[in-house]
Amino acid sequence: MSDTTSTIPKSSEVLIIGGGIAGITAAWFLNKAGVEVTVCEKGSISGEQSGRNWGWIRQQGRDRAELPIVMESMRLWQEIADELDEDIGYRRAGSLYLCENDAEMANHDHFMAFAPTCGLDSARLNRKQLEALMPGCPARWQSALYTPDDGRAEPSLAVQAMARTLTGRGVRIIENCAVQQILTQNQRVTGVLSEHGEIRASSVLCAGGAWSTFLLKPCGIRLPQLTVKASVARTAPAPLLFNGNASGSKVSFRRRLDGGYSVASSDYLEIFPSMAHLQFLPDFVALMTTSWRKLRFRIPELTIDGNFTRHRSLNPIPTAKTVARIKSRLADRMPAFAGIELVEAWSGMIDALPDLVPVLDRAERVDGLWISTGFSGHGFGIGPGAGKLMANLIQGNAVDYDLDRFRLARFSDGSKLELGPAI
Ligand SMILES: Cc1cc2nc3c(=O)[nH]c(=O)nc-3n(C[C@H](O)[C@H](O)[C@H](O)COP(=O)(O)OP(=O)(O)OC[C@H]3O[C@@H](n4cnc5c(N)ncnc54)[C@H](O)[C@@H]3O)c2cc1C
Repeated sequence: MSDTTSTIPKSSEVLIIGGGIAGITAAWFLNKAGVEVTVCEKGSISGEQSGRNWGWIRQQGRDRAELPIVMESMRLWQEIADELDEDIGYRRAGSLYLCENDAEMANHDHFMAFAPTCGLDSARLNRKQLEALMPGCPARWQSALYTPDDGRAEPSLAVQAMARTLTGRGVRIIENCAVQQILTQNQRVTGVLSEHGEIRASSVLCAGGAWSTFLLKPCGIRLPQLTVKASVARTAPAPLLFNGNASGSKVSFRRRLDGGYSVASSDYLEIFPSMAHLQFLPDFVALMTTSWRKLRFRIPELTIDGNFTRHRSLNPIPTAKTVARIKSRLADRMPAFAGIELVEAWSGMIDALPDLVPVLDRAERVDGLWISTGFSGHGFGIGPGAGKLMANLIQGNAVDYDLDRFRLARFSDGSKLELGPAI
């Protein structure tokens, strides 16, 4: 990876804005197809959501339209992991949604009505089956939804390792290079204006995460986005209770490659609408109505707008109260972890769209402009599937998925939005 102005090319067949998992996996598959590709990243590779998430790679609990893409993603994660020089921690050790009562289990009925017909081996476990899978599982959890071949990987390693491999294959990945503007002429993309100069390109992919709305606005595209702060901590190495991902109503944890767990409160998210986001609040009424219990409004601590060099990589800090909440939840719900130290805590800004599913589409009014963004808290797992899909679309190849649900126009053509499962 490089960050010097001397490496700024004059042109590239495809220019990708954003070095998170959406941008880097699209670059991965474009490069495989022999397409010349350049990635501009305003800060460092995976410095935002893609390097800060829980590391769940789950099919379980997915929106129906996302499911085939994430199922393909599982295979692609393995394919990519096999081509990297280092272990990124990709393991298929399963996901558990832990339930305290029948009502919690009933929340998964909608998913279970279609998941098995899509070929997924998700199952409802009773207490005995759960205990067999997680010996010593606290008695409060009576049952669980289980998908044995769900996966996990290390966000702090995965996308950076992919980017290093791509660099070795000749892909230009330029850090500290903010794209200031997507350039167009006669409603056709001509390239981008980066902070280090213009790069001509006949195709541009916007994969800017929480910043996408501000990249697209000057092109006349309205993308209603909100940024939602989510906080995580990691424990010191701890006894093996479950080797995959597990989540109850109050606490979630995921086994890490280093023998610890990434842990978080399941029911606590903070919304930070900056001035530029206030116009989108009406788009989010349905989401707020269903999720008000876990959402808190906060005064913005970071300004996310059209100034792309103000925060090179968004680094929101979890408050002491948030970390204390994670700690007490863990001790309360998982007594086996009570004495285990939390050695680090961090936060990330999730890019939520009103219906909690991403936009995977071309911009109708600007030829050559593609959009892969708004993964709404679950883009890490589906990343390689989405990356391959976008690489195919950009090349003009047919894809096997029904992408209607991921249209950009759903926010402007009067469509009734259907809320996806959860952030
Ligand atoms: C705390 C937390 C937990 C999560 N847990 C999970 C999980 O367990 N499983 C899961 O599947 N998902 C999870 N997610 C969501 C997941 O991390 C994201 O959906 C995914 O990483 C989004 O990837 P992205 O590439 O679209 O965005 P990002 O990773 O945010 O990348 C966008 C990049 O674009 C760059 N950029 C923006 N504007 C410009 C510009 N003008 N010029 C150049 N570069 C620019 C940014 O600097 C950034 O690096 C979680 C997210 C958080 C925050």
